Amino acid sequence: MRTLLLLVLLYTCMDTATAQKITPNKYGLMVITTHQQYEQLVKADSNQQLINLETYIPNIKKDVRYATTNNFTHRQLYTKTNIYLRLPAAKALKNVQAALHKKGFGLLIYDAYRPYHVTEAMFKIVPNDLYAADPKKGSGHNRGVAIDLSLVDLKTGKPVAMPTDFDDFTKKAHYNYIPSDPTVTANRKLLRDTMKQHGFKGSSTEWWHFYLPDYKKYPLMDVFF
Ligand SMILES: [Zn+2]
Repeated sequence: MRTLLLLVLLYTCMDTATAQKITPNKYGLMVITTHQQYEQLVKADSNQQLINLETYIPNIKKDVRYATTNNFTHRQLYTKTNIYLRLPAAKALKNVQAALHKKGFGLLIYDAYRPYHVTEAMFKIVPNDLYAADPKKGSGHNRGVAIDLSLVDLKTGKPVAMPTDFDDFTKKAHYNYIPSDPTVTANRKLLRDTMKQHGFKGSSTEWWHFYLPDYKKYPLMDVFF
């Protein structure tokens, strides 16, 4: 409902010629497709701002697999490795990083905001909405409030052991899977507990995926940053 209000506000802020550009897509979804529409959205609600996590969160590490061919599609889906989230998600993640630092760990980001057309491309390759968001609904990543991440050990700078690699679509990636190594279980628990303490929800099928529960407040976007 809030999204709808924002989009209505967005319409009224813009001249007719520009506003005509936001028409429902083939699935009836309203998707922000230009930087101008995004700027208007931010003007109406500053929480809609997309924040560059590398400048906002000290010492954050990234391994943006979709900017390489080392991902489940075997195709390079991004030309840049930028990691962005909406302001409230970025703030929460900054607190997660601070809490983890006290325990000797830090964040490793695989993916954050993802333009909508990349979700469409992924679903063509893996048409199973357990693993790739259905373009008929869009993804929390397209809304800038979902994130894929793991932990690094601050002493070594290396990723800690987790049940699987990122984007492993087997049952081992499920949250109810019980790893044989208790350290792996503890690492997964630390990540999940810390994210939860700062307002994120986890996924039952992907240990690395987290999102803000009020994701519907944030419109889907198809703009590169
Ligand atoms: Zn994800």
